[in-house]
Amino acid sequence: MRVIVVGAGSFGSWCAWNLLNSGVDVTLIDAWGPGNSRASSGGETRVIRTVYGADDFYIEMSKRSMDLWSAFQSNLNEPLMEFTGSLWLCGDDDSYVESSRKKIESLGMRLENFSVKEATKLWPGIDFTDIAKVIFEPCAGFLRARRSCDAVKRDFEKRGGQYLQATVGSIDETKRTNSVRLSTGTTITADQIVFACGPWLKQLFPETIGRYLNISRQEVYYFGTPENDNHFTQERLPVWLELGTPIFYGIPEVDYRGFKIAIDQRGEEFNPSVDDRTPTEHLVELTRSYLQKRFPALAQAPLLESRVCQYTNTPSGHFLMDRHPETGNWILGGGCGHGFKMGPAMGEILAEAILRDKPVPNPFRFEHLTSQVNKTTQFDHA
Ligand SMILES: Cc1cc2nc3c(=O)[nH]c(=O)nc-3n(C[C@H](O)[C@H](O)[C@H](O)COP(=O)(O)OP(=O)(O)OC[C@H]3O[C@@H](n4cnc5c(N)ncnc54)[C@H](O)[C@@H]3O)c2cc1C
Repeated sequence: MRVIVVGAGSFGSWCAWNLLNSGVDVTLIDAWGPGNSRASSGGETRVIRTVYGADDFYIEMSKRSMDLWSAFQSNLNEPLMEFTGSLWLCGDDDSYVESSRKKIESLGMRLENFSVKEATKLWPGIDFTDIAKVIFEPCAGFLRARRSCDAVKRDFEKRGGQYLQATVGSIDETKRTNSVRLSTGTTITADQIVFACGPWLKQLFPETIGRYLNISRQEVYYFGTPENDNHFTQERLPVWLELGTPIFYGIPEVDYRGFKIAIDQRGEEFNPSVDDRTPTEHLVELTRSYLQKRFPALAQAPLLESRVCQYTNTPSGHFLMDRHPETGNWILGGGCGHGFKMGPAMGEILAEAILRDKPVPNPFRFEHLTSQVNKTTQFDHA
């Protein structure tokens, strides 16, 4: 069998890697490269966690992905994933975290509760004022994002996969197709085509899929840590998430890039090809006032770098994996703000669907695109 995978972000590159390792002849294509600076999989790091509210399905999927990332990085001997643990800072309502506990424990992991007094001793860089519950998830941390996409693509090529850097032209949404036309002028054909184009799915399939997707602008900041103060490095500080309004989360200083912090609040509609990626002054100020309160030593920290990325939001908050009703191609996307970690499991599920006709999990099917749920953050839960 011959398969073309368009898009070498976390979803597409893992999909190509899995198919190749199942004996398929695979060509992976990307317009700007794996984990490029426009892609949703670009940038330095992404959180990996198994706390997922009461959503047992995603807890299992995240654990499976973690195991696959671990095996992959041991084989390559490259540090892609680091376990710092994740610190959940909650007000009185800790139900999002607590409702994962049973499932997490059944998979051999745990959650640890700390009093504010204990937490202050353990993590002196954080001011826990107004925090009612502190829950530590040891089996969590971060992935080096763009480096991971590049590593998957390199290993894919080493194992015999073909990678092309080219743009796939527009698709006629009304006709079955088994070929794509490249910006280089060539047309290539395969038995199956997978479009794992992240936010660009909106432009490629505007009628059938695009009109249900919201591509939101998301800003990420890297603040400089004080000299001779190691409270904010990955050795001393876990990944952390504060489930307040708005939700803030962050990743300790990694690879000397500064303290990463972001707001998990959807920004305005964004075009990933052409829109400007300059940070917004009022959001930087909002983040600074949060730092003042929660990480006082960083109150005056200089903003070293910023990134503007984009979420591909589906109304239900679920990922997408289904066959296009007219073209017959596979569509993979809808990673919202939590898809990066799931690449390995997504690739595995798609390979099973393509090669063994295994039904894809129900939440990923297109019928949920018309869902009236309209989740506003990835942490909304039943
Ligand atoms: C700010 C931010 C923070 C996030 N935090 C986390 C986190 O902590 N943990 C987590 O797990 N997830 C997180 N996510 C979500 C995660 O990053 C995304 O869900 C995931 O990266 C989506 O990957 P993808 O492969 O679907 O899309 P992408 O990475 O966007 O890949 C799509 C690829 O397709 C290519 N492409 C598009 N159109 C064409 C074409 N016509 N021809 C050829 N190539 C094409 C693009 O160049 C691109 O490389 C975050 C996302 C953002 C934006």
